[in-house]
Amino acid sequence: MEIHNTTEDIVIAEVNAICDSLQAKGEMAGICTCSQCRQDAICYVLNRAVPRYMVSHRGAARILEADPQNQADISTLVYEGIRRVSHNQRPYFEHGKDAGKEAALDEPVFNIPTIMGRVFSGLNFSPMSNINVELLTNGTMVEMKDPNWQNPYIIIPNTGGTFTFWPKPLPAKEADERQFFEYTVKINADGMAELNHGFTVPVMSGKINSGFSLNRTFKLPDFYLFPPGEEKDQRLLNE
Ligand SMILES: [Zn+2]
Repeated sequence: MEIHNTTEDIVIAEVNAICDSLQAKGEMAGICTCSQCRQDAICYVLNRAVPRYMVSHRGAARILEADPQNQADISTLVYEGIRRVSHNQRPYFEHGKDAGKEAALDEPVFNIPTIMGRVFSGLNFSPMSNINVELLTNGTMVEMKDPNWQNPYIIIPNTGGTFTFWPKPLPAKEADERQFFEYTVKINADGMAELNHGFTVPVMSGKINSGFSLNRTFKLPDFYLFPPGEEKDQRLLNE
């Protein structure tokens, strides 16, 4: 079973279309369209847009979560993202050198998928926001792929209680090597008991995954928070 965030496809296509058309017209107006700035703009939008997950299973696709109103917001976010990224360009990086092409890196790595989950109040089953979610491995915070991805992640309002992490790729000895990575999500909210959930992500090593379209999503079960002393077994809540 593959889980796919269709918002990613829309955002990647829109950012590339706008950057390509700016490059073609030569009307840059201070906008950088290099691959790093494109990826930064894509991250900016994806961290703010509502994800729409689809399960594809033997060719059959089923939309799990749909929000048509969200589509208009994405275009606004794309323009905002491209402008913001260009006005806050990364230092120590040769902008514009590659003009949209990805750097080819041959060393094998474990491309950890994006890790996504949702948090609800167990009291009224509404999505929670302004709460803190941490991704840990062996008790330490997991380093993210780049500074656009936050750990700890603060769930923002109107995103359906969604949090997303994209861990940094880890070095592998060779390609097609299978390894299991152990993680824990730690969720804290005022007035609620802390929730810790351990899970394992199987990853095959390969070349560095620089394109979002190649990325997989590891979907966690929905989490429900309860006041201290009223915790429920999370497994039962997902049945
Ligand atoms: Zn740039």
